[in-house]
Amino acid sequence: MSQVPKQVTCPTCGSASLYAATNPYRPFCSERCKQMDLGAWASEQFKVPEQASDREPGFEEH
Ligand SMILES: [Zn+2]
Repeated sequence: MSQVPKQVTCPTCGSASLYAATNPYRPFCSERCKQMDLGAWASEQFKVPEQASDREPGFEEH
């Protein structure tokens, strides 16, 4: 029995990516694509309106 690595489409660049244990960046094709996706996700999170303005009092630096 031979295991055929599954091929998926890289969500970032759209090229073929190997969905296997040998590819630590799966389902992305490369570290670059993974980082790009994470970056987009993070910037998406930062779009949330500022609601956490209620800081704890007495925690200011002199
Ligand atoms: Zn890619």
